[in-house]
Amino acid sequence: MRQPPRSVVILGGGTAGWMTANLLNRRWREHGTKISLIESSAIGIIGVGEGSTPQLKAFFDTLGIDEAEWMPRCNATYKAGIEFAGWSDRPGYDRYFHPFPTDVDGFTQGQFFYSTRARRTGRDVPAHPDPFFVQTRIARDGRAPLAPANFPFLVSYGYHFDAHLIGAFLRDFGTKRGIQHVDTRIASVELTENGDVKALLAEDGRRFEADLFVDASGFRATIIEGALKEPHRPFGENLFNDRACVTPTPWPAEGIQACTRSTAKSAGWIWHIPLTNRIGNGYVYSSRYIDKDAAAAELREHLGLGEEAEVRHLEMKCGRIERSWVRNCVAVGLAQGFLEPLEATALHIVINTVESFLAAWDEDKRDEFNANIARRYEGIRDYLVCHYRTARRSDTEYWRAATSNDALSDSLKGVIGAWFAGADLEQEVVRQDIGKYYLPMSWHCMLAGYGNYPGQDQLKPPGPDIVKFDMADIDRFVGGCAMNFPVLSEALGRLEEAE
Ligand SMILES: Cc1cc2nc3c(=O)[nH]c(=O)nc-3n(C[C@H](O)[C@H](O)[C@H](O)COP(=O)(O)OP(=O)(O)OC[C@H]3O[C@@H](n4cnc5c(N)ncnc54)[C@H](O)[C@@H]3O)c2cc1C
Repeated sequence: MRQPPRSVVILGGGTAGWMTANLLNRRWREHGTKISLIESSAIGIIGVGEGSTPQLKAFFDTLGIDEAEWMPRCNATYKAGIEFAGWSDRPGYDRYFHPFPTDVDGFTQGQFFYSTRARRTGRDVPAHPDPFFVQTRIARDGRAPLAPANFPFLVSYGYHFDAHLIGAFLRDFGTKRGIQHVDTRIASVELTENGDVKALLAEDGRRFEADLFVDASGFRATIIEGALKEPHRPFGENLFNDRACVTPTPWPAEGIQACTRSTAKSAGWIWHIPLTNRIGNGYVYSSRYIDKDAAAAELREHLGLGEEAEVRHLEMKCGRIERSWVRNCVAVGLAQGFLEPLEATALHIVINTVESFLAAWDEDKRDEFNANIARRYEGIRDYLVCHYRTARRSDTEYWRAATSNDALSDSLKGVIGAWFAGADLEQEVVRQDIGKYYLPMSWHCMLAGYGNYPGQDQLKPPGPDIVKFDMADIDRFVGGCAMNFPVLSEALGRLEEAE
């Protein structure tokens, strides 16, 4: 096994920088590696990014941090999945839920897959995803996805949290364990004669040398793109959104559910992320189809806010750098790449990048690491593109362009082709080896959730060759499982008490 570096300098103290610092410190601290993180409080962090996948739970588990320790300090709530609303004008398909997986899905998923195929091939059977999944019911019933001790199945879940507070929490955690924290602005990057990074030079004259550098400098990508000139590959050809505007709202009187809500709008979609003290909202849109003032007006109207409500505007640089690990520098977070936040995958990629980097470091497998990270970006990108390509809206220029966009990867063409041909989609996902990015369940939920089926007038009653599932039975099973789960407000209250 290769020796860890003697010193690491991380540029950037956003969520990506602090996550990386803590993961590297945990693995290399006992080998004597000195880890420093440099950030500029004058520049600040992007301060959005408040939804996660289940990978974040694995991250906290790896660091040995209990939910009661971090969640109340970050105003965090639980997330069982994402609800998509307004993405389809098909009757009965105006919303669907994309649940995080559970082991219990094994009892109903086969019935759902079978039903989608029957409906795709013209049989009138119920094939909307929502009734089949326990996490969907957990969120809708106002429960938390926390499996009780007597529930012997694995239930994956993610979180919602305040982006500033999670960074501060991880900073405190890391500095107590020896990570050096420096607040200064880096003015330039010094390279060695062979092109490696030698040092970061600060505006105040300080110089920071290291064996390994991590570029977590956000969209600036100061080291990887700025100094090392690694090319950036934009995703604009098939993901149109390049701007966002955000504003918080107070907690709703009716309380919250354990899910992110994504509502399609005229030129993009609005997120709705419940924290314990507020709701985070943001309109992700394409500047080709709407300008910033109109987007802000649409966001305010959607939230029932007046013109005086302040809205913050952000630009998004969507795409990825060609290689994440170049010479003695590895890039993470926004410096490495960004896929629009529809499935909240950015921190998932950060964690995956650092874990894969540590494994690749040990075995000196840089090329394999870079190829895997590139494939991960593209795998997730295809799933996002599929949302837009197979949504059922055509009421604006934006949606007409999105739903007729033919800049699709061969892999995505294969998935969409299999769905509409009435073929076995699970087999197709396995054949293409893309289930590691999104499970067959996720692909089925999306394609079915938008109502991508023959019109009602083309459907025939199912004959004897089709198995008809008793939806009341499925409902009893799913509802019975969900009843074991705690009420969300009570689960959050218990965390506050335990803190
Ligand atoms: C609209 C939007 C919504 C998002 N939603 C989600 C979501 O729901 N889920 C999710 O996982 N992700 C989401 N993301 C992505 C998420 O915000 C980021 O992945 C995450 O915040 C990490 O950002 P970062 O640490 O890479 O960059 P930043 O937060 O921008 O941090 C960059 C750091 O670099 C420092 N820096 C830069 N230049 C210098 C310099 N010259 N000298 C010193 N310091 C410097 C800055 O001070 C800062 O500390 C979203 C992003 C956007 C734009």
